[in-house]
Amino acid sequence: MPLTLDTPIDDVFMIGPIMAGKLHKLNIYTVEDLLRHYPFRYEDFSIISKIAQVQIGETVTIRGKIISFKNIYTKLGKKIQQAQISDETGNIDVTWYNQPFLSRILKVGLIVNLSGKVTFFKNKLVLTSPEYEIDKPINIHTGRLVPVYPETYGVSSKWLRSRIAPLLRTLKATISDFLPKDTIEKYNFLAEDETLKQIHFPLSLDLATRARDRLSFDELFLIKLASLKRKSEWQKETVGKRFKVNQFQSKLDSFITNLPFKLTGAQNRSVAEILADLGKTTPTNRLLEGEVGSGKTVVATIAMYLAYLNKFSSVLMAPTEILAQQHYETVNKLLEPYGIKTALITRNSKFKISNLKFQIFVGTHALLSEKVTIKNLGLIVIDEQQRFGVEQRALLKEKGLNPHLLTMTATPIPRTMALTLYGELDLSIIDQLPKERKRVKTYVVPPEKREAAYEWIKKEINTHSTQAFVICPLIEDSESLESVKAAKSEYERLKKNIFPDLRLGLLHGRLKVKEKNNILDKFKDKQIDILVSTPIVEVGIDIPNATIMVIEAAERFGLTQLHQLRGRVGRGELQSYCLLFSEIDSETSLRRLKALEKTFIGAELAELDLRLRGPGEFFGTKQHGIGNLKIASLSDTKTIEIADKEAKNIIANTALIQSSPLRKALEKYTIKKISRD
Ligand code: ADP
Ligand code: MG
Repeated sequence: MPLTLDTPIDDVFMIGPIMAGKLHKLNIYTVEDLLRHYPFRYEDFSIISKIAQVQIGETVTIRGKIISFKNIYTKLGKKIQQAQISDETGNIDVTWYNQPFLSRILKVGLIVNLSGKVTFFKNKLVLTSPEYEIDKPINIHTGRLVPVYPETYGVSSKWLRSRIAPLLRTLKATISDFLPKDTIEKYNFLAEDETLKQIHFPLSLDLATRARDRLSFDELFLIKLASLKRKSEWQKETVGKRFKVNQFQSKLDSFITNLPFKLTGAQNRSVAEILADLGKTTPTNRLLEGEVGSGKTVVATIAMYLAYLNKFSSVLMAPTEILAQQHYETVNKLLEPYGIKTALITRNSKFKISNLKFQIFVGTHALLSEKVTIKNLGLIVIDEQQRFGVEQRALLKEKGLNPHLLTMTATPIPRTMALTLYGELDLSIIDQLPKERKRVKTYVVPPEKREAAYEWIKKEINTHSTQAFVICPLIEDSESLESVKAAKSEYERLKKNIFPDLRLGLLHGRLKVKEKNNILDKFKDKQIDILVSTPIVEVGIDIPNATIMVIEAAERFGLTQLHQLRGRVGRGELQSYCLLFSEIDSETSLRRLKALEKTFIGAELAELDLRLRGPGEFFGTKQHGIGNLKIASLSDTKTIEIADKEAKNIIANTALIQSSPLRKALEKYTIKKISRD
């Protein structure tokens, strides 16, 4: 089989099954995926110096002959590698640590390139732990701008370079452009093949920047184009039966008047927008965005009530069982007085759903199961939509007569970003919190104040019989075994050494649902004083009596996430507190955390996070799943603007969209069918 961009990496001779497995974890399955694994920075080894000219402190590349190489074993069992390199101007000493295998590579007599920092040791200039590369016509690890990749899952930058470079060389001619020539010329973009070459092995920083500009554009353009395509398809659809709104206006008004509180202006505005949607023949496709506690659930409940009045059933899907449970309680409390029956559907629901007469179905993605049949489904509400794939939305949609779709998110995405990422959605933003909520006093706690903080928590719990959360550090995947282990050991430590007289509970995603609910019930009933948990509670639960939120290793979280966690407290009458523990002394990371002491607006924190950490982290699919941006920055408004403009130009050009390179590029951003689990 000839090598192509679509060849599975498992079939590439120089990769092998072990590395292929590691690459899969990085979501790399084909040769193209590998070529689209972009470096996040470059090491500048482009200054090539004669040995006699090198300066202390300088990062250089030297090229010379290996005249000696020896492995030295120190008394402490360390292995040091010492070499001498010479060129026509002189000699230099080179040292590595703990790399004895180098003796097999760096043979005396070979010409080698070494790139690294020059230091001064025992009156001599020394190159310490430089990158090395036996000199070849084209060098990739030395003597140039060298790409550095995020190193995870045991895939090193050096390994990536050594595989990507030959693949690029072999396949460059087969990389075709999906953008029309005039678009490329208009923005002075590099061609696609040149773009891939320059992003990995740039000839200059300027070319690297141009490659990055082109790729950012590509990404935003394809996202926008795919969402415009979805929108135009969506708008061709009609609902099974139109909802009547005017006819039920007085019932809706009295429902709203009878709520235990007065809706905020922003809630009222969102309700109006949603009701207007629901009255149309085109199915609603709206995103309701509002901070934790802004009152999205009530708004959604009003929409579900209207569905009921129109004799339609509704689904409310939540990302976790705990949240589903809580939504169930909220919705049920509001709707039961009107004779509406709500079902809670999770993996463990025992009953045959179709046999029972419910109008509202609240649940987790167990709702997607084939066993669940819902008659007359008219409205789907999805909470924390970024946790669900678009695929699942498509599956749920199949269950209904082309139902209306309302998605909700607490992630504060600025309006322009939301419009790019979710171009097919209409947007309602609740930008106002219900009045009586108090600010959660927030403090960054440095290591030396940790003990005092524990004492304070003890006193606070004992005097006010309040409760506390302790959130254990975020580890890659928040419900991984490692994460659970971290929470467990923190729980043990706190119970034994810090709070022996208090009642502690442990919550993590690997517990059985029954156990989880049991712990949460106990926490609600005040039988637990301190709940130690993985970040699972992020989107979750409502415990008004809890007033203290402790977050361990806070620097690992995004500001938005911390803000959302903080939103778990401050729901009751008492003053609430958020303590951000950090073991890190870095200036930037402390400054970042300090922002939480002063800022209580999610959108502002999101912007700040974007500036301080970069969109890669803020928008990383792992944490937020917003889009799947690899390279584009959502603060790059200029590129967003032109990507938007070009996508709108091109959407009408059906021939171009059907052309193979563009169609193929778009596929990655198109809804795929998934299997139900
Ligand atoms: P979200 O889902 O946006 O995080 P919820 O809908 O769960 O927020 O509301 C959070 C809490 O605030 C709930 O206890 C809810 O009853 C209450 N709430 C909602 N809207 C209002 C309001 N307008 N005034 C007072 N309390 C409200
Ligand atoms: Mg909510």
